[in-house]
Formats: sequence, C-alpha cells, structure tokens
Amino acid sequence: MQSMRIVAIPTETAETVRATLEAPVYGFPAHAEVARDDAPCRHCLRTFKPGEERRILFTYNRFAGIETLPEPGPVYIHADACPRYSEDAGFPEELRGSPRTIEAYARGRRLLAQEYVVDGKFEPAIEELFARQDVDYLQVNSTTAGCFTFRIERPSHP
Ligand SMILES: [Zn+2]
Repeated sequence: MQSMRIVAIPTETAETVRATLEAPVYGFPAHAEVARDDAPCRHCLRTFKPGEERRILFTYNRFAGIETLPEPGPVYIHADACPRYSEDAGFPEELRGSPRTIEAYARGRRLLAQEYVVDGKFEPAIEELFARQDVDYLQVNSTTAGCFTFRIERPSHP
C-alpha cells in the first residue's frame, strides 16, 4: 500500500497551456522550445530528452486548487500530450537522483518545516513530515532551480 499520493499538475491545465500557449489565470505568454536539459515535465513527471523532446515553459500557481493565496512560478510540461503521473505510483524514480526540497504546509499556506534531500532517500523524510499532525500536505521543489515539481498528499483511503 502506498503511503503517499503524488499529485502532478492537472491534465486540464496541461491541455489548456498546449492549446493556448498562455499561462492559465495569468495569461502570460508561454514559451515552446526543444528541451535543452533534463528538467522534469510537471504532468508526467518524466525528465525531458535534451535535443529531442519539445517542452512548454509557463507560469503556474503551485497552490492552485488547495489555497486561496497564489504563488506563481515557472514550470515545464511536454509540448505534446503525455500521460499524467499516476497518483499511487510512489515517488517518481526519474527524479530520485536530483536534489529536491520537501516543504510541509498546514492549510492557509503556513510553512511548517522543510527537508533538503540529496541522497535520493525521499520516503523517510516524507514519512517523518506526514507523522506530524499539523502537516496537511507537502510540496516538492527543485533545490537547485527552486521551481515547483509536484505536491504530495496523504493517501485518501488509508
Ligand atoms: Zn510530460
């Protein structure tokens, strides 16, 4: 049984960005290009193949759907349709090798704690943060680039 639910950006958001080349809500122009590095797509949570796959850079509120206080920032998705990362697939293996910051929040966007994971051992850090009663959800960011990667929630059916 999975002890976490991995929440990638909604498919509707990815499809809107691909169709309009604009950021949802903000309307800022989105930028399409051939990938130049192996950053992750925030929809399928797979890393881009540099020089091969096309991607779109757009402005996304990483608290969309869970908080009224926004915090927009740049994220990438594949320019072509890709499958959304399965919520019960566990921590994305393709992202295990890069340093990530796990932020623990209480509702109201109150940051309670953060863990910098550099050795790929994400599960113990996630379990420890979820053991706190005051933690409602976790946000995972790139430690080096600072960008939002995905959200983690407790399993809906324990
Ligand atoms: Zn993708």
